[in-house]
Amino acid sequence: MSMNNVGRVTRIEGESKGFAASAAGAVAETFTGNRGLMLEEGLLFEIGGLERSGVDLPPVPVVPDRLGDLARVEPIGLPGLSEPETVRHYTRLSRQNYGIDLGIFPLGSCTMKHNPRLNEKMARLPGFSDIHPLQPQATVQGALELIDRLAHWLMTLTNMPAVAMSPKAGAHGELCGMLAIRAALEAKGDMRRVVLVPESAHGTNPATAAFCGFTVENIPADPRGRVDFAALKARLGPDVAAVMITNPNTCGLFEPDLKDICDAVHAAGGFVYCDGANFNAIVGRVRPGDLGVDAMHINLHKTFSTPHGGGGPGSGPVVFSAALAPFAPLPFVRKTATGFELVEEMQAQGSRDHDQSFGRMVAFHGQMGMFVRALSYIMSHGADGLRQVAEDAVLNANYILASLKDVYSAPFAETGPCMHEALFSDDFLEGTGLTTLDLAKAMIDEGFHPMTMYFPLVVHGAMLVEPTETESKRSLDQLIGAMRSLAERMVADPDAFRAGPHLAPRRRLDETGAARKPILGYRDAA
Ligand SMILES: *Cc1c(COP(=O)(O)O)cnc(C)c1O
Repeated sequence: MSMNNVGRVTRIEGESKGFAASAAGAVAETFTGNRGLMLEEGLLFEIGGLERSGVDLPPVPVVPDRLGDLARVEPIGLPGLSEPETVRHYTRLSRQNYGIDLGIFPLGSCTMKHNPRLNEKMARLPGFSDIHPLQPQATVQGALELIDRLAHWLMTLTNMPAVAMSPKAGAHGELCGMLAIRAALEAKGDMRRVVLVPESAHGTNPATAAFCGFTVENIPADPRGRVDFAALKARLGPDVAAVMITNPNTCGLFEPDLKDICDAVHAAGGFVYCDGANFNAIVGRVRPGDLGVDAMHINLHKTFSTPHGGGGPGSGPVVFSAALAPFAPLPFVRKTATGFELVEEMQAQGSRDHDQSFGRMVAFHGQMGMFVRALSYIMSHGADGLRQVAEDAVLNANYILASLKDVYSAPFAETGPCMHEALFSDDFLEGTGLTTLDLAKAMIDEGFHPMTMYFPLVVHGAMLVEPTETESKRSLDQLIGAMRSLAERMVADPDAFRAGPHLAPRRRLDETGAARKPILGYRDAA
């Protein structure tokens, strides 16, 4: 193992035999740890000093100590850096980061698409960005109108009569929808407690159902990667509260039986929750309300382009059927004769259609900045443009599927085209001792963020690629070229790929160890 002058591993034993030596030769290790203009950067604690400060503060005046024996006796332990050191630190770290503004982000199920700069410009208009949620409603009529206009678009695109705008992410929207379903059942004195979830469901679905106090039961997938309708129908009964189903599902496939599923669930007295995170594949083409869905969240940060990843804000409005609308959460915007008002209080029973609201999801009204960005995206595309978004997303995914299925194993390619994401398995690596993980690391060396790995669980060594409509043919061809080349090289010379990435700022990390036994203080690492 070789280390640079700050003690970071630059080369692992045996690596020189592999890819790095042939590709990067003797320059793999440098005195500084820098690789060309890609600069090595230590932790703030390593480059800063506890005794230093970036600002000159006047001496602390002597004041009587009123803390008793609670006063801190040790130094506070924060590193001091000058302004240029601080700026360089974060700029260097940002250059080691990969983002959608750098290149394709083929993460399946995540829908990482370009966020048009127009969205940002609109979200920064002072009338939207400088307002406070407790301001008198008369002074924020424009913001309320924007929420109402976006709500109208969401209801129209889904053909659902009600929408709750406040949930702050997809999973939060699921919680909202399932709480409404629970409230609707309880209002009838019905204590059904089982929620059926297909095997291929996003992990948030069973988690949400369990969090709401339901018992989760799995429904198997059929050989085409769709919900096994016969198995689902056989399980329906008076104890089934709801079915949670993702459409298009997490194998990137449309659930053709969804309408029949909804009819069967309703006939058995249950509700259908549709995970609408993949709405970007069908927006403008399919209205979930027409299929009989009772509640569905829409990830504004996926379908309608608002930025996400890196912990940025999300937004997960939920549309409701007429049966669930009365149970939707507060607050919501209502148009009155004189303007817009925010309904924040429960109304007397029977006086309004939302008199059975299950309560509130959030302190205020939702993610205003995301609303502005989503409406900006919607209005700049228009109805026909949104339809083209779905068509292009599906076309791009099918281009990838068709271009790779002869070298990658594609489990459901025989059953027809995919929707917005292409699913592959690691069967083609059989006998090499290499796995999906090795392929993902090799993609980093090629300059790509890896695709989603090992999800969905129904496929062995899954690789889920979602290009979105954002990518040009040129960009797709580059990804396809790299993935074809990797598949061929990995089969021909597996040993060169066991320890990747070789060219990234860090070598292969112990990801399991990091998750199970995180070392949270940098001094503990020594
Ligand atoms: C992204 C996603 C979610 C969760 O959405 P968050 O905003 O990350 O909470 C749920 N289901 C599916 C199918 C998704 O792709």
